[in-house]
Amino acid sequence: MRAPAELVLLGHPVAHSLSPRFQNAALRAAGIDAEYRALDVEPARFEEVVAGLARRRLAGNVTVPFKERMHDACDLLTPLARRVGAVNTFWVDDAGSLTGDNTDVGGFDFAVRSVLGAAPRDLTVGVIGAGGSAAAVLAAVETWPGATAHVFNRTAERARLLSERFGSIAQPVDDIGVIEGAQLVVNATTIGLHDDRMPLDVELLSPDAAVVDLVYRPGQTAFVRAHRRRGGRAVDGLPMLVEQGALAFERWFGRSPDRSVMWDALSEGSAAS
Ligand code: NAP
Repeated sequence: MRAPAELVLLGHPVAHSLSPRFQNAALRAAGIDAEYRALDVEPARFEEVVAGLARRRLAGNVTVPFKERMHDACDLLTPLARRVGAVNTFWVDDAGSLTGDNTDVGGFDFAVRSVLGAAPRDLTVGVIGAGGSAAAVLAAVETWPGATAHVFNRTAERARLLSERFGSIAQPVDDIGVIEGAQLVVNATTIGLHDDRMPLDVELLSPDAAVVDLVYRPGQTAFVRAHRRRGGRAVDGLPMLVEQGALAFERWFGRSPDRSVMWDALSEGSAAS
């Protein structure tokens, strides 16, 4: 594939995103003459904007609320993007086909390995949420030997539909108490993004449970802080964010970015802000 000269992050809103900061640092470190920028797309114009970007052979990422619509807009999908039903990474291949992948799955898998310090095996997983990122979580869980998942969601019907799609490992639950008993608890909702609310009562988790909060915000989420205070292992969404971005970089350029440069760009930014 011809390397893209321009990369965009499609979202709405998107100005808060950290991706341009660490992707541009990685591009500069790799000596690649390309720019990565956030593009706030008016929802009514999404398909029209995507068609224009594809004609110009741009590549990039997709975030809330467009991942499912991008899945439908692509000419080609990787098996993982098809399995998740959502696209967060795209490019135009040599034949001119708009191609979609999902690197959130690999990003989440990386975050879990980093919090466990080992490969996941025989885990009971409690997933809170039933949107696009919960689907990426379940696509990772179904690759782990011996894993099972319970899915709890505010709208129970969505938990049921999502669990049906991952029927070999997932079951919907109406009682959040089942999630509280899991060995790995995942917050895949937007709870805690703008305030200190938590998706469940952290006091009810076993201190041995590991927590992965997909949400990230300066100073960590309240959920991560509270579980760590009790001596528990917990990570927020940053390791997943950086890894999904690094995997996307590999799809676009056929080489690995310097992940430490990506992390440095984030810590420089937070020190400055
Ligand atoms: P989504 O498809 O819009 O799903 C949102 C989920 O949050 C749904 O399950 C929704 O429940 C639930 N929810 C929203 N407000 C709620 C509330 N007040 N109380 C209870 N549940 C609530 O979003 P998504 O793409 O899955 O993203 C979810 C979160 O993951 C976002 O914060 C996003 O930033 C984060 N994320 C992080 C990364 C990363 O790299 N770290 C990657 C992807 C996503 P209902 O079904 O009842 O509406």
